[in-house]
Amino acid sequence: MNQDAQTLAAKALEIHHRLCEVYGCPIPYFHNLDPLSELVSSLLSHRTRNADSGRAFKALRARYPDWSAVRDAPTTEIERIIGGVTWPEQKAPRIQAVLRAVEERHGSLSLDFLGDMPVREARAWLETIPGVGPKTSAAVLSFSTLRKAALPVDSHHHRVAQRTGLIPKSMDVGPSHAALAAMLPEGWDAQQVYDNHEIMMLHGQQCCFFKNPACVRCAVLDLCPTGLGRMQAQEAEQTFRKPAVKA
Ligand code: SF4
Repeated sequence: MNQDAQTLAAKALEIHHRLCEVYGCPIPYFHNLDPLSELVSSLLSHRTRNADSGRAFKALRARYPDWSAVRDAPTTEIERIIGGVTWPEQKAPRIQAVLRAVEERHGSLSLDFLGDMPVREARAWLETIPGVGPKTSAAVLSFSTLRKAALPVDSHHHRVAQRTGLIPKSMDVGPSHAALAAMLPEGWDAQQVYDNHEIMMLHGQQCCFFKNPACVRCAVLDLCPTGLGRMQAQEAEQTFRKPAVKA
């Protein structure tokens, strides 16, 4: 690791420790799904509120006995059942295509075998399926009962990482997965990696808002070039607005 990478890794670790204090690590896992179910859940959740994708997932489980029945159902029927998510007309055929691809490539409709693979290999296997990107592959490995040390990066996590300078502002969410994972200590277990994702996401939801981040109460303000820049700009504006004191 070169000097710059070491500095960034140290900063990522400091941010992790501070945000763990704020949000309370270890964070309980929110799902207990087998990896194939987690894959479907993850595909439903793209750009959709958790409550809506959760409802769609439950509706699929209630309507069909297993994922092979979802795969073989009329696509328009799936589209109607998941109608509460964003872009159901795209997600219905995609979910069916992904289920078909799993069976074609693995020989059965299960992803339990990924538990025996190293994280890097398991992610690469998943990402060969069209429609499965780095966030989905990491979510399947981390959030499912496989409980592997894979780091998903959602839009909140990505925004906090950009603003704190862990990754460049120009880095897209896809490549940020590898860049941010490389900053975490190699020996971290699945819970620690999961905590890292959760606290960065929670920070984006509860403090580092898309519009008007609450920098003044942020636990990592002194480490954040964006926040420090905003505070300086606010101070300068206040000074500018102060009425001149007459001599
Ligand atoms: S200081 Fe502001 S911009 Fe930086 S992480 Fe905190 S809330 Fe976000």
